[in-house]
Amino acid sequence: MTLQERPLGDPGSSPYRILREGDLRDYLARLPEVAARLGGAPNAWSITEVGDGNLNLVFIVKGSRGGIAVKQALPYVRLVGESWPLPLSRAHYEHLALTHQARLAPGLVPTVVHHDEALALTAMELLEPHIIMRKGLIAGTIYPRFVEDITTFIARTLFFTSDLAVSAAEKKEGIAAFAGNHALCKITEDLIFTDPYRQAEQNRWTSPWLDHIAASFREDFDAHVAISRLKLRFMASPESLIHGDLHTGSIMVTETETRVIDPEFAFYGPMGFDIGAVLANLIMAYFASAGHERVAGERQGVESWLLETVERVWSETARKFLDLWRSEARGDGYPKALFAGAAGETRLQVERRHYMERLFADTVGFGAAKIIRRILGLAHNIDFEWIEDGRLRALCEARSLRLARTMLVDTASFATIRDVTKRARELRDWQPDFSAT
Ligand code: ADP
Ligand code: MG
Repeated sequence: MTLQERPLGDPGSSPYRILREGDLRDYLARLPEVAARLGGAPNAWSITEVGDGNLNLVFIVKGSRGGIAVKQALPYVRLVGESWPLPLSRAHYEHLALTHQARLAPGLVPTVVHHDEALALTAMELLEPHIIMRKGLIAGTIYPRFVEDITTFIARTLFFTSDLAVSAAEKKEGIAAFAGNHALCKITEDLIFTDPYRQAEQNRWTSPWLDHIAASFREDFDAHVAISRLKLRFMASPESLIHGDLHTGSIMVTETETRVIDPEFAFYGPMGFDIGAVLANLIMAYFASAGHERVAGERQGVESWLLETVERVWSETARKFLDLWRSEARGDGYPKALFAGAAGETRLQVERRHYMERLFADTVGFGAAKIIRRILGLAHNIDFEWIEDGRLRALCEARSLRLARTMLVDTASFATIRDVTKRARELRDWQPDFSAT
């Protein structure tokens, strides 16, 4: 399962331009495979721009037979505009990651139908009736397949791109293939690991209620040390090909299917960053839930499911990862020659446990960082944003921040995932002191 890098800029294709509806229709009509998939006459295809993300354009195109989703990168950040340029090459890395993930975790990402390097465009399987998981969680929906699917995705993509599974040469080729995606890494380095802890123009939070909490994070050197250690791990630990943005807005679901989308932040980084992202977003959905109830207690079912899911996402990821390590370890890490015989295997078992403990601590730390950035930084999430009452929203956010700060600076106090969910449950109805505001 090697990474096949494609040249940046396919000489045969047309130069980059932002595609509008008519232009896109003509372009797609010239692609026999796409036209056949859509069916019917091109002028009868419906084309709707649905991009609700922060960075790119996404069109849904439907014909008489089927549909596709077409994603095109813009030379700037969509959320901010032309004043914040961002390289088109991110579409190249997204395509490279998507096709590699499709091989490693079949059926858990949308199938790519067409890719155009010069246009920074990828056409893929239309996910329908899937919805963005974050929206389903806000509505109080439970997803019975989710744990099974997401833990397969995480365990397989992380394990099979690590030094436990591949040769040192293949691993380093992989790192090289994604090294150019540094502009996207820089966004993470700034927006997650730096800005929420300093006065940054783009930061925002639910004011005035969270003013003093936001200020306390800017003066909290314990937090600054902890986040800086995590930043360094993010920058200097190419453990695996990570998705890099694995929040519940990058997961599309039905009650029976799960698909991971949008890996444009992919690069070789620390595994705990992806696992922490999933856990953090489930934890935020849990704390936001109180802000979405019309009658006290009416969302207890989904809230219990969310915490149980936090526990199972970690435990099943760990179980599947360890199973792969036992059965598929063909990499250059932990040479078999050093762990020969029954005694060697016993010792390796102990070491695997230590490895998972270290990964758990990373996961808790990165999860904390993900929560804090969504409440004090630039990009917020609709779990909280859709709570209209500012004071109520601040209450949910303050509870999340309280858990996240402990996870960040006192990571070692969480020995198991149950320590995380127990603390979350204790904070469900915690009343912060907003009297100073
Ligand atoms: P961005 O990188 O700008 O965040 P995303 O890849 O997250 O873009 O896509 C933005 C939105 O487009 C998603 O939230 C989803 O609603 C929709 N979308 C993306 N890919 C698909 C797909 N394959 N099928 C259906 N909808 C999709
Ligand atoms: Mg997105």
